[in-house]
Formats: sequence, structure tokens, C-alpha cells
Amino acid sequence: MITIGTGSIEVICGSMFSGKSEELIRRLTRAKIARRRVQVFKPRIDSRYSEVEVVSHGGLRLLALAVESSAEILEKTHDRTEVIGIDEAQFFDKGIIEITNRLADLGKRVLIAGLDQDFRGVPFEPMPALMAIADDVVKMRAICVRCGAPASRTQRLIASDELVVVGATGMYEARCRRCFEPGVATVDGSLPFPDGEPPPNP
Ligand code: ADP
Ligand code: ZN
Repeated sequence: MITIGTGSIEVICGSMFSGKSEELIRRLTRAKIARRRVQVFKPRIDSRYSEVEVVSHGGLRLLALAVESSAEILEKTHDRTEVIGIDEAQFFDKGIIEITNRLADLGKRVLIAGLDQDFRGVPFEPMPALMAIADDVVKMRAICVRCGAPASRTQRLIASDELVVVGATGMYEARCRRCFEPGVATVDGSLPFPDGEPPPNP
């Protein structure tokens, strides 16, 4: 239970399709019902517009502001804002760790949603650090499209050497640990981890 006026950091993480955005929207909607002053941010990735939406795969939507960097979150947060939502937090720079701590120290409730692992199954920075400094962490799970078990991995279905490939549906699906295949071929046809082990994070 979060006491009003006491700052906090809540992390909602998991694979794609696990319901992170739905859960973020649910908590933010409840904060609005409680008449808290709410602001929502997303990293600006492929949109030229600053007014964007947090959209869940199930179709829920919430207006958000697209920002270039974590510093812009701090810049754009109004003094009177009580609850801050941040979606797709895995795409932010490391600065987000200090900034969320600072906002929470100011008495604000910061809700963060993001992928805990990338398509290789490697921890997706800066999420691990955000999970460490959080007051509360939930790991959401999707349904494995292969076997129906709870899924904690994001399977990339297309070949690419890029860590981040944003966009079209059909490029990723949820898989359980057993059905997950980290060795999907890269563009040149080679396996990303010839030794079978993903490299450590840079
Ligand atoms: P995330 O933000 O974690 O990617 P969303 O909140 O956008 O997830 O979407 C969750 C919704 O996606 C579910 O409520 C369900 O309607 C839909 N969905 C589609 N495929 C799956 C799947 N494989 N497992 C669970 N939910 C799925
Ligand atoms: Zn499975």
C-alpha cells in the first residue's frame, strides 16, 4: 500500500505481451480516479510527435509525452505532479536511474513499465538497476504461443543484428523458457552466440 505523499518507485516488467502497458494504464487510471495529478512519458523512438499514446496490445490507450532523454522527463515534470508513468523504460539512457530516484525523493510516485530482457534473454539495461532501486517490482508473464505455458521470454522472429528493432506486429512473440530459441539466425545467416552463450552486457 502506497501512502499519499510518500514518494515511491514501482516497476512493472516482463516480456512483450505480458500486460505491462495494461497494468501501467490500470494504475494510472486509478490514480486519476483518486484525483492525483498524473503525467505520462515514453521514449521518442520513431515518432516525430511529442503527443503520443501508451497503447496496449489489447487496445487500451492513454495520452503520453514522447521525450528524447531521461533528462527531459525531469525537465517536463511539473512541480505539482504527484504520479508519473513511464512506459518502454528499457529504451531510456542510464540517467533514468538517478532521475526516478530524485522524483521519488521529492515525494512523487513513479510507475515504470519495461522489458526486463532483450530478445536474446539478456537483462535489458537500465531495467535491472531500476528494479534494484524500486520499492515494488512485479514481473508479468505472457502466454507462450507455442505451448500455452506462462511465458517470460520475447522471441524475435525476424533476422537482424540490431538490439532494438521497433515496430511491426509479427516480429516478436511470447515464449516460455522451454520454447524460447535464443539462437535465431542473424542477417548474415550466422548465429548470434556461436558458443551458445550470450555475451555480457556492454
Ligand atoms: P506489454 O506492454 O507487456 O507488451 P500489453 O499490455 O501491451 O503487453 O498487452 C497485453 C495484452 O496482449 C493481453 O491482455 C492480451 O490481450 C494480448 N496478447 C496477445 N498475445 C498475447 C500472449 N501471447 N500472451 C498474453 N497476452 C497476449
Ligand atoms: Zn512454451
